[in-house]
Amino acid sequence: MPWLYTQMLLVITLSIGCSTQHNDIRIAVMALGPVSDRQIDAVVDGVQKVHHLRATILPGKSMPSSAYVRSRDRYDGNAVLADLSSIQVRDFDKVIGVTNFDIGINRDGERASGIMGIAELDGRAALVSTHRLSFGGVSPSKQMERLSRVAAHECGHTLGLPHCARKGCLMNDARGAIATIDATSGRLCVSCRFYRPFRLKDDALVNP
Ligand SMILES: [Zn+2]
Ligand SMILES: [Zn+2]
Repeated sequence: MPWLYTQMLLVITLSIGCSTQHNDIRIAVMALGPVSDRQIDAVVDGVQKVHHLRATILPGKSMPSSAYVRSRDRYDGNAVLADLSSIQVRDFDKVIGVTNFDIGINRDGERASGIMGIAELDGRAALVSTHRLSFGGVSPSKQMERLSRVAAHECGHTLGLPHCARKGCLMNDARGAIATIDATSGRLCVSCRFYRPFRLKDDALVNP
C-alpha cells in the first residue's frame, strides 16, 4: 500500500518536525544592571525545568536610561522589552532580561504600575524583575523559587502560551500578586504542556 506508507511517513515526519521545532528554540538569558549569579541561575533553572529548553547566559548590559520613569522611580517595562527585543543576539531565538530594578506598565490609568515580569506573546523578548519577589519577608531560597517561576511564566508567553485558568498552572494570570505565583504548582498543566507555537498557528482556538 504505497499510499498508506506515504501518509504514515508524512505523519511521522511532521511529528518529528514539530518536536524538533520546539526543542531547537534557543534561549538567551541576560542581566540588565547588577544581578547576582544565583539570580541568573534561578532564571536558567526555571526555563530548563519547565520548558525543557537549554538556556545560555550572555554578558549583561545596563538598563536603557530612556525607559526610566523618574516620577515612579522604576522602569517602563514595555520600553525595556522593546529595547531587549531590538538587540541582535546572534544564534538565539528568545532573550530573557533579568533585572533587580523595579519595572511597571501603564495600567488602570496609573503610569508605570509595578509588575514582576512582562513578555511578548509568541515573540522574542521577556523581562523579569526581582524587585517584588522578597514580598512577605521570605527567605532568599524562596525568592529564588519565585524568580524561577516568574521567568518560566514569561518565557512561556514568548513560546506562545497565553494565560491559563486551570488551578495550579504556572500560566495562571498573577495580576501583579506574588501570592498567585506562590499558589501555583510551579509547573504547566497538561493542556499548556502540549500547547506549542506551531499548534497556536494551526488552531488558535485550542486551549484558550
Ligand atoms: Zn502572564
Ligand atoms: Zn495551563
